[in-house]
Amino acid sequence: MKKNAGLVRRIGKRVLDPGIEINTGEELAGKVQRDLLDLAYRNNWANILVNLAAGVSMVAMFWLRGDLRAETVIWLLVVTVICCVRLWGGYLYHLTRENSTELSSELLRKWRFRYQIGVIVTGLLWSVVGVIEIPAVQGESQFLTMIIIAGMAGGATGILAPVFLVGRFYLCALLLPPAVILSVMGDANYILSALALVFLLVMLVTHRNNHAVLFRSFVLKHQNQGLIEDLKQKNRITEDWNATLEARVEQRTEELQNLVEHDALTGVLNRDGIVAWFERKKRSDALLDYAVLFIDLDRFKQINDGLSHAIGDEVLRSVSMRLSECVDDHHALGRWGGDEFLIVLAASSAELHPLVETVVEQAQEAVSQPINIVGHTLHVGFSTGVAFSSGRNPSISELIHWADLAAAEVKRSGRGSVHSYDKTLLLEQERRLSVTQALRRAMSADEFDIEYQPVIDAHTGDIIAYEALLRWNSAVLGPVVPDEFIPIAEESALIVDIGEWCMRKACRTIQDDADIPESTKIAINVSIRQIVMPNFAHMVSRVLTDTGLASGRLVLEVTESIFEKRQTAQIATVLDQLHNMGIEIYIDDFGTGYSSLSRLHEIRIDAVKIDKSFVLSMDENARVVIEGAILIAHRFGLKVIAEGIETSEQRAELMAMGVDAYQGYFFARPGQIPCRDIHWKNEPDQPA
Ligand code: C2E
Ligand code: CA
Ligand code: CA
Repeated sequence: MKKNAGLVRRIGKRVLDPGIEINTGEELAGKVQRDLLDLAYRNNWANILVNLAAGVSMVAMFWLRGDLRAETVIWLLVVTVICCVRLWGGYLYHLTRENSTELSSELLRKWRFRYQIGVIVTGLLWSVVGVIEIPAVQGESQFLTMIIIAGMAGGATGILAPVFLVGRFYLCALLLPPAVILSVMGDANYILSALALVFLLVMLVTHRNNHAVLFRSFVLKHQNQGLIEDLKQKNRITEDWNATLEARVEQRTEELQNLVEHDALTGVLNRDGIVAWFERKKRSDALLDYAVLFIDLDRFKQINDGLSHAIGDEVLRSVSMRLSECVDDHHALGRWGGDEFLIVLAASSAELHPLVETVVEQAQEAVSQPINIVGHTLHVGFSTGVAFSSGRNPSISELIHWADLAAAEVKRSGRGSVHSYDKTLLLEQERRLSVTQALRRAMSADEFDIEYQPVIDAHTGDIIAYEALLRWNSAVLGPVVPDEFIPIAEESALIVDIGEWCMRKACRTIQDDADIPESTKIAINVSIRQIVMPNFAHMVSRVLTDTGLASGRLVLEVTESIFEKRQTAQIATVLDQLHNMGIEIYIDDFGTGYSSLSRLHEIRIDAVKIDKSFVLSMDENARVVIEGAILIAHRFGLKVIAEGIETSEQRAELMAMGVDAYQGYFFARPGQIPCRDIHWKNEPDQPA
């Protein structure tokens, strides 16, 4: 069997592809040994039967030929007993194999040993025939015995193919003794002896080949099985691995989704999160209506810039926490960016409006509570824009857009309230957008022009100044009124360039017009946005230098919003600087904005222009405002100009109130210089 192991290795090497070596050599050898033994035991009965048949026929042949001896009969009895024992052994092996599918190596060794003993003993019994019987008989008996033995040897090459060494021993035991005996006995039969030897050699070779074929087929069988097993196992491993991988990927995906859908600072949903939530919600319940609340914190920039970004972050966290208390799991809270939060409410159409009211109230209540952060007590308010899906099927981005517009409208009309989106808002926004786009090209396309409206001295009737009023004839939109495009230009900072252009052009026009007396001033409207530019005063003086206009002829009209606390100091400095240059400062649209009456002394100004809305209505309230303004302005040594005068009555009443100068269609509409055609001059009550 040692030789077998060698063969295993040799065949194994030849057959096994090293790349897919599945079993170790020993494992494979063990399996092949077991199969060989199984086959050997399966062939056992055939070997025994052949033995018995050969033994009986030899004895019968001797008996018929009168050559039978007592020893031969005893021999047959021994053979029969051995055969019975071997049969019994074969049966026991069969039982053993039935009980154990996998034969232990110990059992393997034991049963192989028993089998070998059986074959060896049987072989030796036939050697006895060769050594004793053949010399004892003569002629034909001798020859026939040799044929029987040769026949058995031939059969053994197949039957004993599973056992290599023992098989060879058996063949030798059968053929070698008669071959030797035939050549050395008294009347030696060399031919028969040589024949036996040749036959033995052929049988040995045949047996060896049979064994090799058998062996190789078992090796292949186990290799294939091993391969299949291995593949199965690999599949199992892959399946297990895939399963855990799947779970891990799922978990990781969830984590990533959480990361992707949530705002890092506040932990509430971010933009993607809100969109994803909305899509999920719509899928799970198609019948719901939605309201989007766009919550924009008021003056958050002040906190952020004025205190610190860290405190700003704290405020955002605190606000989001408070908002989250107003929103349960059926709805969503998210941060849209910066200081903007979104609440998306989902409910039946009947419940939605009351729900919005409740949530807005709760949110305002929660957020308005003072926020205490590292020694600061902060009060945060917000403006809310609301958009409803109301039965239509708008996308979340549309809803958010509308709510954003509504919130922007709230901001424009004075912060802290709630505004619902409606269609006009969208149209307004669209118009704003196209105006913005057209404005960007207006300067380079030379679409601006200026009209001049005179300001008339109430006492002399002389034109003391012209107000420059910007005109825009857009190639895309046609004429656009300043009340529409100026605020947009201010939002987009385009006003800085446009304002400079206007100032330069107006100054030049006045300066270059020889018909205009040197005492007549030019009044330019200036936006806050321009004044807060770092080089505003420098820009103004450069315009004066470039156009050659005396600084005393320039008037800047600024609105009351300069008194807004935030920027007063900076604006006061700039205006002071300009004032020192001899430029006059007028407060425009006086009475409409900040209650600036009490603060007129904070900034050095020269005149106030009472807003035309008071002049035009001239009701009881308006009169109170106008009289109060005149009183206080005069106290501070300021002139009072009334604008928007359209009728003779208005003029007369304002004159009686003590206004210093007039402006309005009654005198002249804005137009090209010189507009000397002043109605009032021709009226009967004109000053002397
Ligand atoms: P504003 O400074 O209050 O200018 C007076 C506005 O009242 C002008 O409107 C003028 O045409 C109008 N107006 C004058 N008399 C009468 C009247 O008797 N009745 C009525 N109903 N209106 C009268 P306009 O030209 O449409 O300008 C509107 C606003 O646009 C200006 O109001 C001013 O705030 C702004 N604006 C105009 N040009 C400029 C500019 O160059 N720069 C800046 N920053 N703003 C400008
Ligand atoms: Ca003005
Ligand atoms: Ca005005």
